[in-house]
Amino acid sequence: MTEKKNNPEENEDVGLYQKMAERTAEILQEGRKTLDEALKKAGDEISSGGEYTREQAEKIGQYLRRDLSEVGKKAQLARDAVIEAVEPHRVVAGVQSGLTRLLRTAADILSELAGKSEQALEFKTGEVTSPGTLTCKSCSKEMHFKSTVRIPPCPSCHSTLFRKSY
Ligand SMILES: [Zn+2]
Repeated sequence: MTEKKNNPEENEDVGLYQKMAERTAEILQEGRKTLDEALKKAGDEISSGGEYTREQAEKIGQYLRRDLSEVGKKAQLARDAVIEAVEPHRVVAGVQSGLTRLLRTAADILSELAGKSEQALEFKTGEVTSPGTLTCKSCSKEMHFKSTVRIPPCPSCHSTLFRKSY
């Protein structure tokens, strides 16, 4: 492990998010599992490795699923554009590989997920999410992220609830 430890908790969550995305993509490529089955299996495997707890894996799995569901709404329209949006070119090599791979693998699943998503999902400070734009629900301030992040409070009004777009 050569991970930097600037903010251990944040790095851990973001690292786990990437790992979950990567492993879920692999599982989906192996066979005919649903996205939820693949997420669960990835979480079980990663938590059994001992580096992360089952609770952490489940929490991050839910964040990942939410991002996929949101991205899926757009994926129906223009999947390649979405992949480009979530894979900024200037991030450190490899950082987005897991999520991008998952998006390419799971196009059909994403479309299916999108069909079921009726309302815009809420994003909160402290949660981990993929690149995109978060808009503060209180003051409409926008924050643009080009890599997976742990969501900070609104820099303008310190509110903790956001809408997300890509
Ligand atoms: Zn605000």
